[in-house]
Amino acid sequence: MKKVRVRFAPSPTGGLHIGGVRTVLYNYLFAKNHGGDFILRIEDTDQNRYVKGAEEYIFDCLKWCGLEADESSLHGGEYGPYRQSERKEIYGEYGEQLVKDGFAYYAFDTAEELEKMRQDLKTEANPSPQYDHSIRRKMRNSLTLTMDETKKLLDAGIQHVIRIKMPENETVFLNDVIRGEIHFNTDTLDDKVLLKADGMPTYHLAVVVDDHLMEISHVFRGEEWLPSAPVHLLLWKYLGWEKHMPKWAHLPLILGPNGKLSKRDALKYGFPVFAMNWTDPKTGELIAGFREKGFLPEAFINFLALLGWNDGTEQEIFTKEELIKKFSIERVHSGGAKFDYEKAKWFNHEWIKRLTIDEFRLRIDKILADNNIAGIGKDYLDKVIALVKDRCILLTDFYDQSHFFFKSPAEYDLNAVKPKWSGGKKRFFDLFVEEMKATDPWESAFIEDGFKKLAMMQDMKPGELQLPFRIMLVGGKFGPPVFDIAAVLGKEQTIQRVHKAIVAFD
Ligand code: GLU
Repeated sequence: MKKVRVRFAPSPTGGLHIGGVRTVLYNYLFAKNHGGDFILRIEDTDQNRYVKGAEEYIFDCLKWCGLEADESSLHGGEYGPYRQSERKEIYGEYGEQLVKDGFAYYAFDTAEELEKMRQDLKTEANPSPQYDHSIRRKMRNSLTLTMDETKKLLDAGIQHVIRIKMPENETVFLNDVIRGEIHFNTDTLDDKVLLKADGMPTYHLAVVVDDHLMEISHVFRGEEWLPSAPVHLLLWKYLGWEKHMPKWAHLPLILGPNGKLSKRDALKYGFPVFAMNWTDPKTGELIAGFREKGFLPEAFINFLALLGWNDGTEQEIFTKEELIKKFSIERVHSGGAKFDYEKAKWFNHEWIKRLTIDEFRLRIDKILADNNIAGIGKDYLDKVIALVKDRCILLTDFYDQSHFFFKSPAEYDLNAVKPKWSGGKKRFFDLFVEEMKATDPWESAFIEDGFKKLAMMQDMKPGELQLPFRIMLVGGKFGPPVFDIAAVLGKEQTIQRVHKAIVAFD
């Protein structure tokens, strides 16, 4: 088998949807599984759709996911340039070759002529007529003009495009690794523009030329490209490269609550659909990203891998290394894969539980900074992490789960204590302060022991005293076991908080 070389070929037109990341992932896993190369090619031939910042954003996303390319405009490689706008000169000769060989033609129609054709030929049955075999004979192109006329127009530098001459009533066969054999009848296809008037190729020509020149062995891309596949297959054949044609696989859609998972779903349901936050530069609209929501990249790629693939067992948690070992494109399902945000969070929780304290600490710098938590010693922070890590489903839960370790409660859930607060309870906590002063060593079990003994001596139920104690320390009815909290807060801080709360509860 020839060397595996796969590519992700995004157009820099906006944020990176999880469908795109999954395409990257499957390409990446397949490449690494076969000791091959993963190439990132930027398809920016449609300058009207180019969005500033989108290219950099794609690189940042792949970096965060740990799915970086072996070859790209950033990583180097021998098949560059890897940005199509920098390859403009390459495509023209292939367009000309296709014309010379009779598979394409020059079309000189102006925008007005095209519009007139669309208006004149519009019928109820065919509301948007296409430039196809039934129409091309009525238009101004090198098929209807004489050779001399064509040459004159070309020599005079008259604007023109090159269009593919779609054969009539032919069947094109696609052998898709996931879907099996698919047929297309060429009568449903129009004479797509291959080379534009400004000399830029369209996607169809550029993708085939580049996949060939970059020696791509397998094309794995989203199902939305299936309708374009016959055009690409014909171009591979017409350019004389059929022998080198890559293997194809069109990946299933990712489904949201109402069909294809979309940006609109993200806005409506409040879950992320992009890898990282993306702000549309035109509308200013922010689409949430998994990174900022608090997902670990390990969890993100784990659940994405399983959106459309499994290894045939019940296993759900996979490291990247395991995925590389086990992934096979044949096991990708052809049906749409349903995105379930609750399940995605479950994966994240599992991955957070698997992090060591050191690993977790390295991921929360930004959360601490965003919440103005500074100057915390490593030992103290690690004790807090040990207590709350497994309670975090998302990294961003860390603050909600731990803020009381860094800031004394500004207010108390008085509704939870007041109705049952009594002189007896106040007395208990006054005595408990004295008890705590003498507690040594200051450890959870000793604090608990002192607390329970004192309660017994006062003929009170420890269970009824623990809730007020918790509210004194954290402000509300939440958090890890209360004696563990006291142990981490330290003797002085715990006593201070109890004193302060007794006053507030009265
Ligand atoms: N440039 C196309 C895109 O934006 C690439 C499709 C393909 O992989 O052929 O997704």
